[in-house]
Amino acid sequence: MTGSSRGRGTDSGLYVLVIEVARRIRVRVGALGECEFPAGWYLYVGSARRHLRRRVARHQARAKRRRWHIDFLTSHPAARVVDVILLPQTPRSECEVNRTVAGAVLGSAPVRGFGASDCGAGCEAHLWLAGRPVSAEDLRQRLRDPGPTGPPRPPIPRDQRGTDTDTDTVP
Ligand SMILES: [Zn+2]
Repeated sequence: MTGSSRGRGTDSGLYVLVIEVARRIRVRVGALGECEFPAGWYLYVGSARRHLRRRVARHQARAKRRRWHIDFLTSHPAARVVDVILLPQTPRSECEVNRTVAGAVLGSAPVRGFGASDCGAGCEAHLWLAGRPVSAEDLRQRLRDPGPTGPPRPPIPRDQRGTDTDTDTVP
């Protein structure tokens, strides 16, 4: 008996990829079609219900079957995953983390909807082009800090999300 069939296992959670794109590239991204990515540092926020580390290792490999939007970018020769932040068992939702990351790096979304196919919170994208130098260490600090509201709250069940947007990112 594993007891894990209903909840998230210990190998589940969120992750942030730091991706360097060495030059401006055009990439066909599945249903999004041909997309342009300016050179720079990108942050991608995703989640794995299980096999978090295996998922991240997959993102770091260039040769793979392209399934998610991000696969089309990370399999390109000019793109490289240079750092990874793992957030196993985080109390925050993927979209909360996404907004935190975007704010921290002054991110812009070169491809609207990228990585956000199943996003319930109306994020512009889950891939951000950083508008300032990226410090993975700084991001780790921000994402681990439970913030001024006190100890972490339990995650909101998926079917109750989607109505609590814009609570912490409005300037
Ligand atoms: Zn989202």
